[in-house]
Amino acid sequence: GALFDGLTRQPADPLLGLTALFEADRRPDRLDLGVGVFRDEQGATPIMRSVKAAEGRLLERQDTKAYLGTEGDPLFVRYLADLVLGPERADDPRLTGIQTPGGTGALRLGAELLAGARPDATVWIGTPTWPNHAPIFRQAGLSVRMHRFFDPSRSDVDLDAMLADLANARPGDVVVLHGCCHNPTGVTLTAAQWALVVRFCSTRGLVPFVDLAYHGLGDGLEADVAPTLALLEAMPEALLAYSCDKNFGLYRDRVGALWVQGATPGSATLVRGHLQALARSMWSMPPDHGAAIVREILTESVLKEDWKAELETMRGRINGLRAALAALHPALAPIGRQRGMFALLPVTPANVAALRVDHGIYMADSGRINIAGLRTASIDRFVKQLGPFLP
Ligand code: PLP
Repeated sequence: GALFDGLTRQPADPLLGLTALFEADRRPDRLDLGVGVFRDEQGATPIMRSVKAAEGRLLERQDTKAYLGTEGDPLFVRYLADLVLGPERADDPRLTGIQTPGGTGALRLGAELLAGARPDATVWIGTPTWPNHAPIFRQAGLSVRMHRFFDPSRSDVDLDAMLADLANARPGDVVVLHGCCHNPTGVTLTAAQWALVVRFCSTRGLVPFVDLAYHGLGDGLEADVAPTLALLEAMPEALLAYSCDKNFGLYRDRVGALWVQGATPGSATLVRGHLQALARSMWSMPPDHGAAIVREILTESVLKEDWKAELETMRGRINGLRAALAALHPALAPIGRQRGMFALLPVTPANVAALRVDHGIYMADSGRINIAGLRTASIDRFVKQLGPFLP
């Protein structure tokens, strides 16, 4: 037979199909609550002012496109570490970080590292989660198991169920944790619950892999990273995948970093060599442009302050929409306590289809909505049209 005919057909990406339907819809008040990008009140995903300014500086000053190394731009990683980890922890010799193509690249690189170091490890992922988590680890050759995480009846974390499932994990297994702004539920472990999870991992020899893709879009830059820092403090070994694609609005430019904390400075050095070798075989080096923008912003105090102000405006818009939703219907009250770009509405796929056909409201079949896709001006109408389907 022909070479590729034995391949099984891949399902189409449901969110991309939704975008195509949305674009064909001519109703002026249609709402795209599908794909996870920030939107302003007009529904646009603009380039941030600070990003434009940094690009202008790069255009003027950048004098070469010669190769960087497999680890990308070391200054980008350095300044990002100061922002994310704080200057003190950024200098911890047990930590090593390299630039990656987005948070996805960071997760995949970490997965490849784990697959080399501990090929029989199982990676534990809470349900529901970002649909790319399981494929990333499976493609790296690791086995994946799901654990319970979200209790839809309370719209909150089900910590007991989570820990009961994780009791089946063996020492050396990996636990994927959303650092903040859980996708798709928006729920957050309280500080006390997070401490319990960290203690659980530490006493059972489980390795946490934190995915931090929405830093600054929940409760602010400091609050959003505090749980991750507490985890790094308490755990001998951990991984952190970081994305700059949402908080700098750089989505397609693919900007991220992976940090790995080893048990000793020697193991961090060993890890670094492996990260470089793995990166070389996967993408040789990460794309530079977006990381150069972030580096410019983080090294120039005027740009950095402006970026922080823009980020605060984005966060304010999301949390304002959350509060408005929560106030308009009792079934939406939990959304006011949750954080980040997403919420999971208690609706069925049939409800989702009816909202799309009858009202031009587009969301994933799971009921996940991108909060930033809503408009303050039409939120009453949205809740009125959603209302009949809510419990
Ligand atoms: N992790 C989570 C939870 C995400 O939601 C996303 C993006 O949607 C990513 C990682 C990856 O982001 P990036 O575009 O930087 O690869």
